[in-house]
Amino acid sequence: MKVIIDFDGTLTAEELQVAALAAKSLDTLAHEIIHVPRELLAAEYQATRARLLRATHRHWWEVNGLIASYCDEGAFILNTTTLQVLLRENDTYLQAVTAAFPEAEYDPVVDCTNHLFHRHTAELPPEFRPGARNVLAALQDHPGRTPLILTNSLGDKVRRHLNTLGLDAEIAVLGDTRQYEMVPDWPHSFVLAHGKETQVWRVLPKYSIDLRRPAYYQALVREAADNSQLAVVADTFSLPGALPLVMGIPFFLLRTSYTPAWCIRAVAEHPLGSILEKLADLPAALDSVADPG
Ligand SMILES: [Mg+2]
Repeated sequence: MKVIIDFDGTLTAEELQVAALAAKSLDTLAHEIIHVPRELLAAEYQATRARLLRATHRHWWEVNGLIASYCDEGAFILNTTTLQVLLRENDTYLQAVTAAFPEAEYDPVVDCTNHLFHRHTAELPPEFRPGARNVLAALQDHPGRTPLILTNSLGDKVRRHLNTLGLDAEIAVLGDTRQYEMVPDWPHSFVLAHGKETQVWRVLPKYSIDLRRPAYYQALVREAADNSQLAVVADTFSLPGALPLVMGIPFFLLRTSYTPAWCIRAVAEHPLGSILEKLADLPAALDSVADPG
């Protein structure tokens, strides 16, 4: 079995890093991109963040007009979404970002927040969760399991941080998987547990997860192409967790200090979904996944 483990927030304590990530991102925005006083931008950031948290189902990380993730699903996701909303809502900021990212791969705001994320998470020192090293070592030692690190970050950051753990062997990294790459005209649809075929999974009355994520879908299909059984482990739901569940792949959601109740509920209610109370529980939790060999 390939055990695909998300990096940020799952192996690492994202909640301890997010303040530094936000501070560095505000520095860059204020001084290099939109050229406004940093104190003003920081105050607007805090006000926007608080507003998002008052109605999380109405604010999201949007790519190509589709919802990639609700704003409250992770500490880094809340930072990214806060910046996106802040930049989209102010015409002056939007113009400055558009000028700074003239050949945007997605749109200038998404490219800007991707840039801030990649640049500044790479500058943060590694902050592994307790048990991260032991869990990875146990997976490496288990004859039937291969750990594979899943990340939207660039592989070099992740490899550099993993090297500080001093594991006996290198772990493969599935980097830049772009779970946020939403493609509105991707024709693929999925059959849900109750037999309905759809591209958007309504997990709870207020929360629907769009499944049009061809880049991540292809990454999972590639990993299963050698007939390996897969399992995915992550601290957030919409980005890394929804596709595995609708593809028949067990998904383990790590409960963190920032995990919203609605994500716990949605994953717990799915037959292939499990909640991990702590990372160290993973090896035992995997024992419960039937392996047809
Ligand atoms: Mg994560």
